[in-house]
Parts: sequence; structure tokens; C-alpha cells
Amino acid sequence: MKSIKKTLVIGLGLIGGSLALALRKAGLGGSIIGCDRDQSEVELAIKIGMIDHGSTRAEDWIAEADLIVVSVPVIAMESVMMQLKPLLRNDTIVTDVGSSKGSVQTSAVKVWGGLPANFILGHPIAGSEKSGVSAALVDLYQKHKVILTPTQDNNRQAVSIVTQMWRSTGADVLTMDIARHDEVLAATSHLPHMLAFSLVDTLASQDESLEIFRYAAGGFRDFTRIAASDPVMWRDIYIANKPAVLQALTEFEQGLSRLRTAIEESDSDAMLGIFTRAKAAREHFSRILENSAYIPMQNKLINYRTSPGNALSGRIRVPGDKSISHRSIMLGSLAEGVTQVKGFLEGEDSLATLQAFRDMGVVIEGPHQGEVTIHGVGLNGLKKPAGALYLGNSGTSMRLLSGLLAGQAFDVELTGDASLTKRPMERVAKPLREMGAVVETAEGGRPPLMIRGGQALKGIDYKMPMASAQVKSCVLLAGLYAEGETKTTEPAPTRDHTERMLTGFGYEVNREGATASLQGGGKLVAGNIDVPSDISSAAFFMVAGSIADRSEILIEHVGMNPTRVGIVNILRAMGADITLENESEVGGEPVADVRVRSADLKGIDIPQDQVPLAIDEFPVLFVAAACAEGVTRLRGAEELRVKESDRIQVMADGLQALGIQCTVYDDGIDIVGINAVQGGKMTGGRVHSHDDHRIAMSFAVASLCSEGEIFIEDCANVATSFPGFVELANKIGMKINVEEA
Ligand code: NAP
Repeated sequence: MKSIKKTLVIGLGLIGGSLALALRKAGLGGSIIGCDRDQSEVELAIKIGMIDHGSTRAEDWIAEADLIVVSVPVIAMESVMMQLKPLLRNDTIVTDVGSSKGSVQTSAVKVWGGLPANFILGHPIAGSEKSGVSAALVDLYQKHKVILTPTQDNNRQAVSIVTQMWRSTGADVLTMDIARHDEVLAATSHLPHMLAFSLVDTLASQDESLEIFRYAAGGFRDFTRIAASDPVMWRDIYIANKPAVLQALTEFEQGLSRLRTAIEESDSDAMLGIFTRAKAAREHFSRILENSAYIPMQNKLINYRTSPGNALSGRIRVPGDKSISHRSIMLGSLAEGVTQVKGFLEGEDSLATLQAFRDMGVVIEGPHQGEVTIHGVGLNGLKKPAGALYLGNSGTSMRLLSGLLAGQAFDVELTGDASLTKRPMERVAKPLREMGAVVETAEGGRPPLMIRGGQALKGIDYKMPMASAQVKSCVLLAGLYAEGETKTTEPAPTRDHTERMLTGFGYEVNREGATASLQGGGKLVAGNIDVPSDISSAAFFMVAGSIADRSEILIEHVGMNPTRVGIVNILRAMGADITLENESEVGGEPVADVRVRSADLKGIDIPQDQVPLAIDEFPVLFVAAACAEGVTRLRGAEELRVKESDRIQVMADGLQALGIQCTVYDDGIDIVGINAVQGGKMTGGRVHSHDDHRIAMSFAVASLCSEGEIFIEDCANVATSFPGFVELANKIGMKINVEEA
């Protein structure tokens, strides 16, 4: 903006005045001149330092301005352009702020025969119900969006200068084409204002007249706040953006009439469908406003300060298993009947799956404190979503859904965030194609995935080239829609939650060794699922209860899937006192209450066959090893180096900082225990979690055997993977203080 020595703002109202104030504050735009029809407004603007100079005669300043911002009502744009035309220099950049763009373009075409190359149309998405100089706010545009609608013929440099101007006010600048802008604004701004004006007017003209407002509550106030906006401006906007506004109104009338019918017919499912979809969409919108995805992002820096704890005691229940939470939504949606889910993990990934099924027309109530009610639509009841299904960061959702969707009658696109977009999808696309599906990927087999509907799938006998539960699940789920038998054989055991839950929903799955198979064309029967607690989360408390002195705790309803129980087997081999109570089966999954008592742990050589069954639990197992008597040796665990952090090195660094001797190997570690039972203690100290939630929680557990405080840096991620960890830990006697840096 160096080239801009003089900026002329025509129309010193809320929008123009706020821009002048923000430019003055940013020190950009050179000297600021303001013009308005009202002399007293210009005088006020000079007096409060909003502008350097000004008058009621824009024509006196046009020729000397390098940048002109037209901020008058849309209906007055054409007359201002007529003033500009004879006086405008070729190199002067012009922009406007009008709330509709098609009409401003039409005015420019009338005046100049086309939109001048240096005239960049724009619209700040900020405002209030007030108008005039006194309503202007210096930070009106901070963190708000400004839409520019540059055309092919616009000068690139002019676009760049207008972009810089808005950015200097703290706004986020994006571009759109003119017609799209008008449609989007008609739907998101002009329609809601119209409804608010109309509702208040309708109520106000009823017999009781204004009397009824005495009884109106918060809902009325929130819904109708915008009916206090400037009537003249809104009259102008509806004239200017008539076609797009009428189109938005037609769509709204259709939606309203569907709701009317549902109410007339007391159609409870239809009403719930509309309300739950709307509630979810509104919540999603709130999160967009907060600049976060499905759950609030932890952008604060969180550290834990932990003190040596007491004896532990009590009953706890840790959050639900993520893999099972995903599958409960998928199979519940495709089942016939209503499925009630308890213990659903309200994490970002499982919420992405939930939203995807809502987008495909499934009525899902909740989640509310882990409870979800799914009104299943049957295997063939999904509807084509209005747009692409956005799966956030969830690879599980994308890989499993691609299998389910390969057999649908409609086309569907699957997208995700930047990191999901880098993950390989060819591993699922390939077997699906062999089954007759049409799956298109972006370059390199990456998302987005386009799955073409209406294909006749055939069962295959798939020998999986890699051990992946997601690939196996994807193929089996596609098999539900395939003719004949679909069979998978895995090179090494992987988690079998899909097979188990299919069985839980009454679908026959045959399993023999590494092979699982099913016949297409069956049906899923709804049922209730009490999602087992995640054994990986329970693991922290299994170790805590074992290493803390004089302790006994009960961890309720923990998933005991044989592919996940390495933690229990290894701790028992070390001498832990762990007993299972109330063993049962839920949705095909074994569960049990886990009782843990303090024990005299001994170092062991960790059996190779247990390594894959406990891969996520090693950080906290290292803490158990550090408290045991003798040396614990782990080998064959190179995968630990490529988890959220290099878990071997990061744990070794932390343990050494607490006075523990350990030796690191490429694929494992040796840890010399302090023999806590005989009174051995770690020293306390400062450790870094490297943003890895499991490392943070493991060192919190270590504090039970330390003589001093352990300060753990960067623990914000714990809240995402294990909401409520600190509260649960403190409830049974640990001492963790959360500190915001
Ligand atoms: P405002 O506060 O009423 O300001 C408009 C100003 O322009 C008034 O001072 C008006 O003077 C003056 N004006 C009218 N015709 C003029 C002319 N021919 N020459 C010089 N000045 C003239 O309105 P605003 O809210 O700032 O809106 C301005 C523009 O911003 C509109 O195009 C609107 O669509 C757009 N916009 C508004 C919002 C919002 O929420 N308010 C948000 C985004 C965009 P008089 O009072 O004498 O008429």
C-alpha cells in the first residue's frame, strides 16, 4: 500500500467510518479524506480524528485520490459512480462495500459500459444495527471476513492492494465469484433478516398488538435482534439482490412446509430428523466461529504439576473405546430399528463419523453425556448427502466408510483435513475395485475419494498385503452389499472390532484363524450398545493402582478384546494383582470390571507375542518397569518410534530426568527398576511430553513413586484423547495440578 498517498471514503456511515478509523490506526492509506451528504457528520468525523479532511462534495477530491472506497447504500452506488466517471484517474483504485455484488456490477456496466479494471468489488461481513459516524468502531473488522469478488478483467495489482487494505484492519480476506456471493449472502444474511422483520411485523400487527411482547422470552429476543436493523438499507438490499433472495426464500418455504407436514401428521421421526440435523449443524457453525472443528481445540499451553500421591482407592469408569464408538454409529445407522448407545466417546474422530451419517439422512439424537440414539435406516436406507462428506482427521472414518459406500446407489465424495488428505487410500480403493466398485482417488491414491454409486459388487477372497484392521473392515463392510461370499485373510492378527460388532448386530461372520468371511445381502438388527471403556485409557490406572502403596481400585466395564489385552498379560507377568470381575459380552465384545491392587512388581523380558497387543500401552508400562525390582527388557517394538512421538526416546529422556537408568535400542529399551515396594523412589524433576498425550499421562502416573514434584510440559492433548483424565486421577487419590502457561 506504499503507493497509496490519499484514500477517499465516500459515505461516512458505520461501514465507511469504521474502515477510516481502522486505516488510521494501521497507519495505512496515506491521508484519509471522507465525504458524506451530511455536513455535520463530516465535521464530527474530523473532530474525532476519523479522517484528516473532508466535505460534502466528493467531486472535489476524486482526482487526487489514489484509492477510493465507496461505502454508500447499494441503491446510491450508481449516482456515486456517475460522479466518479469524469474525474477518476486511470491509476486510481476503487472498491466498494455493498451487501450485494451483482447490482453494483450492473450499475458499473451502466456507467462505464463494463467494470473498470481497477474497480474491485468487495463486501465486509461485519456490521451492526446502528448507522452513522457515531456508530463506527475501529475494530469492527477484526477477525471478520471480507469477501472480494474480482473478475477476470480486474487488475491483479489492484486486487492485491484492496486485499492488503482489508488485512490491515484485522480482517480475513477471501474471494468468490459475484453470483456465488449473492447466493451465499441471500441464504445466510438476507433471508434471516427478512424472516426477523416479517415475524416481528406479523406479531406486532395481531390484535393484542405490542402487548404480547411483554411475554416474549430469550428465544424471541435472539431470533429477532436483527429486525432492529436499518429499514432503508434492507429495502435497498432486497431490491438489489432480488433473484437470489427469492430463490433462498423458495428453498426456505419448502423446508418450512416439510416441517409443517411433520407437525400436522405428528410425524415424530421427521421432526426429530429436522431438529437433530439443525442442532448439529448449528453446533458445527458455532465451532467454525470459534475456529475449531468438532470439539474445542486446545490451543492453550497446558502443563501438569504432580505431587507424590496417596494410597489410591475408588471405582472409576474411563472413556469409551474409539474403534467401537465409530462402529456403533456405522452399524446402528445401517441396522433396522433403534440402537441406543451408551459410553460413546465424544472425540473429534467419532463425531466426524456421526456427522457423516446425519448428512446421509440418518436421525441421530445426542451425543449427550455419552448417550446416542440412532434411528437405523436399514442397509439400503442411506440418502445421498447434499455435499462431500467431511471426515476431519479421521482415517478410520474414511477407510471404513469407503467400504460401506461402495455399495450404495448414489455417488459420494469423501474429504478430510490437510493431514488426512496426505494419508494413503489406495490400500482400500484397490480391493474395492476388485469387488467391482468405482473409486477415484486424487493423485498418489490420496483423498478426496469419489465413490460412484449404482455398481453391482461381487464378493472376493482378499489376501491382505498388510496387517490392517481398517482395510479388513472396509472389505468386509463392502461385502455386506456384495453378491456371494467376501473373505479376508490377514498376514498378522489385527483388531477385530468390526467382525465382533457385526455379530453383535445379528450378522453372521465366519472366522477361522486369520480368515474372516461373510455373505452379502443379510440384515443388521438394532440393539443396545454399552461401549466398553477403552483399555488403553484404563492402562494408566492399572499401572497406577499397581505401583501406588496400599491401593485398591476398580475400573468398570473395560473392553477385553483379545487383540488388546497385552497390558493385562504383561502386568500380570510382572506380578501385578489384577482380577477381572463381572465378565460379559456387549455387542460381540468381551468386557469386565478390572480390580487392581498394589503389588510387588518384578522386571521381566517382555514376551514378543505380547508386543503388538500392547503397542499403545508401552509408555505407561515403562513407568511400571521403572518402579519394579530388577531390569525390564523390551525388543521388537520399533513401531514405537513412529507414533505421536518417538516413544522410546522421549520416555527414556523423561525417565532419566527422574533418576531412572535405562538403555535405548533401535527396537526397544532396558529399564532398571527402583524397587518401589522396598521404598525406592524416583527423584522428581521436569519432563517434556513432546505433545504426546500418552507420555504426559504416563509421567503423571510416575509421580506416585517419586519423592518430589514432577513437572510435565505440554499436556494439552490429553484433553482430546482422554477427556476428564485429571479429574478421574485426582478422584482416586492422585495429585495433578493443571497449569496454564
Ligand atoms: P450508513 O451507516 O447509513 O452509512 C451510509 C452513509 O452513506 C450515510 O452517511 C449516507 O448519508 C451516506 N450516503 C448516502 N448516499 C450518499 C452519496 N450519494 N454520497 C455520499 N454519501 C452518501 O450505512 P452503512 O451501514 O455504513 O452501509 C453502507 C454500505 O455498506 C451499504 O452499501 C451496505 O449495503 C454495506 N454494508 C452494510 C453492513 C451493515 O451491517 N450495516 C454490512 C456490510 C456492508 P445519509 O445518512 O445522509 O443517507
